[in-house]
Amino acid sequence: MPGRILVVDDVATNRLILKAKLSTAYYDVLEADCGNKALEVAHRELPDVILLDVMMPDIDGFEVCKQLKSSPETSHIPVVMVTAMGSPEERIRGLNAGADDFLTKPINDLALFARVRNLMRVKMMFDELRMRDTTSREMGLSDFLESLDHSDEGQETVMLSPPDCEIGKSWRESILENLDVKVIGTLSEREALNISSLELPDAYVVSQNMMENGDGLRLVSALRSKPETRQSAILFVVSDGTVETAARGLDLGASDYIMAPFDPNELVVRLRSQLRRKKYSDRLRSNMRDGLKMAVIDPLTGLYNRRYATQHMSKIIDRAVESKGEFSVMMMDLDRFKLVNDTLGHDAGDLVLKELSRRLQENVRGVDLVARMGGEEFLVVMPDAGRFVAEKAAERLRSSIESEPFILKSGDTLSVTVSVGVAIGSAINCDADDLIKQADQALYRAKDNGRNLVSFFASAA
Ligand SMILES: [Mg+2]
Repeated sequence: MPGRILVVDDVATNRLILKAKLSTAYYDVLEADCGNKALEVAHRELPDVILLDVMMPDIDGFEVCKQLKSSPETSHIPVVMVTAMGSPEERIRGLNAGADDFLTKPINDLALFARVRNLMRVKMMFDELRMRDTTSREMGLSDFLESLDHSDEGQETVMLSPPDCEIGKSWRESILENLDVKVIGTLSEREALNISSLELPDAYVVSQNMMENGDGLRLVSALRSKPETRQSAILFVVSDGTVETAARGLDLGASDYIMAPFDPNELVVRLRSQLRRKKYSDRLRSNMRDGLKMAVIDPLTGLYNRRYATQHMSKIIDRAVESKGEFSVMMMDLDRFKLVNDTLGHDAGDLVLKELSRRLQENVRGVDLVARMGGEEFLVVMPDAGRFVAEKAAERLRSSIESEPFILKSGDTLSVTVSVGVAIGSAINCDADDLIKQADQALYRAKDNGRNLVSFFASAA
């Protein structure tokens, strides 16, 4: 899955070397020889990853990174800063500017490729999520998405799997001093996995060497493969100081790594950026779920909408045809509903629709489909229900509405009735549109005969 990488360096030889290395792995390489050029190319080409030199004559790498991260078009592009010095202060400054990692010159190939692979993976996941989010918005759901309340996201949880208790304590302290999170400590791989399924941590700090001979790499790999922890951020602590181990950690699924011993600030900054990324992806995912739900649910009544109903009805029909069984299709309409809206107002009308929907759902079986087809019109489809069952069910539904008056907000009561038209489907009468038309015809007859009635479709033959 090679991608496009923008290499930024003011020294031509450095660019050449990087370009040569990356090209052997089939990445497409774009180049920029100064900070301003980097910003211009990044905006125009939207590369997948940017390798950014720190020292440049016009604007330095920190400033370029800050500008990239503050622009909505480029903020999601991962940035790796490339530096000659790599002091802890410089690293923290870069991470604070929004960089995802640091590589020191001369660049180690293993570190470079492991990091680029990792960032490409993250970038692809975000691109996919962002694309789905855009689709939902294009489908007219943006108002709905903006209205979602994210305040229940609550405090985030970080799980620590340190090499020993002393170090664990110092990690906990620096994290709690700087981040508003809940911290859980674990002593073994088994414990980490067990607690994970209960607490669902947002992020992990996993040491390569763990207490009780735990293997951090094995834990990283296990966390990444379990469905409930797959989306969590994992910060892998490299104890042996080797690039090989760091690269393995990334390839096994760590989101980021840090070389021990480290400045506690670096842990905090890396963790903060991982938590931010996690929160953003959670939000996109939940938008997508809610958006999908929105596409099939009638927001007022919580019933399925017409789009879902027609789709699902075709499944019920297929099954009936296969088993040569019967099923029934009911169209239902509130009697004189216009009068309710006109005399009592739309709020009262909405209340009636909601209460009616609740009663309908209470009086059907779990396998039956209840949908709002629009306005005051409802559809009920009952699999495996011939005339006998349908007659009882339709009568039960009709009477569930009539039997108890509806209570309005004012405390006043209102008597409401429905008319029901029923058509029986079978292997030889199995066209969804025809069946709905037949049920509709029966419904008109119920209305004509005085409303508050159940009527069956009778074919001309
Ligand atoms: Mg330079």
